[in-house]
Amino acid sequence: MREKIYVTKPFLPSKEEYMEQISSMWENHMLTNAGNIHNELELKLREYLGTEECVLSVNGHMALEMLLQAMKLKGEVITTPFTFASTTHAIVRNGLIPVFADINEEDYTIDPESVEKLITDRTCAILPVHVYGNVCNVERLQHIADKYHLKLIYDAAHAFGVAYRGRPIGCYGDASVFSFHATKAFHTVEGGAVVTKDHILGDTIRHMRNFGICQDNGECMEIGTNGKMSEFHAAMGLCNLKHINEITEKRKLVVERYYSHLDKVKGIRTHKADMQIQQNYAYFPIIIEREKYGECRDELCQRLQDEGIFARKYFYPLTKKLACYGNDFSRDGTPVADYISASVLALPLYADLSFQDVDRICNIISRK
Ligand SMILES: *Cc1c(COP(=O)(O)O)cnc(C)c1O
Repeated sequence: MREKIYVTKPFLPSKEEYMEQISSMWENHMLTNAGNIHNELELKLREYLGTEECVLSVNGHMALEMLLQAMKLKGEVITTPFTFASTTHAIVRNGLIPVFADINEEDYTIDPESVEKLITDRTCAILPVHVYGNVCNVERLQHIADKYHLKLIYDAAHAFGVAYRGRPIGCYGDASVFSFHATKAFHTVEGGAVVTKDHILGDTIRHMRNFGICQDNGECMEIGTNGKMSEFHAAMGLCNLKHINEITEKRKLVVERYYSHLDKVKGIRTHKADMQIQQNYAYFPIIIEREKYGECRDELCQRLQDEGIFARKYFYPLTKKLACYGNDFSRDGTPVADYISASVLALPLYADLSFQDVDRICNIISRK
């Protein structure tokens, strides 16, 4: 049996690089609570992401939960069901009600027309996702947010390093959240960040991640949580950041190799970003059009698995249909999301996935 291929394989710097990065801790014994390494990463990421504020956190999910709490929202949040559980859970865990808009067929991001139809006097915010690193219709969404005086918060967990019309992705909307989980385009093992241009919001989240304690007066100003990133995690981030361009370049070549094979396969649909988008090549989702391809998504997924290739049904089921939500949310109203979720398969993609392996995967898909 050949070596198994998983949907992703986290990048690791050399042991020497990492040891070098963490060695100062054996002198200063500063292991967490916004230490030097943490602060250096925060600064470097603020520059890299091109935003005024970058607040690191223990993971992307906690960053999103803290952001929603810091914005003191009440009522309904219009969001997409075609995402990871985290997006919806963060809304619900803040006592807010998710209302699910549909997505568009081309790039699977939220459909602004569908969003506008769902706005009521209970709506307080829109929470779209730059799913797979595909850029939401940021102009239309901002227009809608302005028109109805709503907050616009992006889940940018997939979109590290992405830019649109020359502007880094984190500059759009009121705030964005990134995930630096091991499986993401850039990682700190576990980690995440909130980015925003709002300094007051940034400070509130800085307090919130440390139990709500204000650094200046020692008072507990917020009902905070423990959302701090440790020095060990930040050190991994500093190492990985040095390699990010090389990682992205390699991912790009893998993606182009996939296109060269799959563009020719009947019933397999892919998405190509337009020229205005600087991509991060974080995921490679394909849509299996059952009628034309002659096999459904689950059948292809099983066939790949039989050959030791573990593609993933990202994102299936839709979050509104997760078991924990029972019948809390309407099952219909998102026909496109239903279709995409039932037809999508994320293929293996990582920097050192060999062309040989890509060819093998594509041969299985095209039944060669
Ligand atoms: C990974 C992910 C998150 C959560 O990030 P963690 O760092 O794993 O907590 C949130 N939203 C989306 C869309 C994700 O893919």
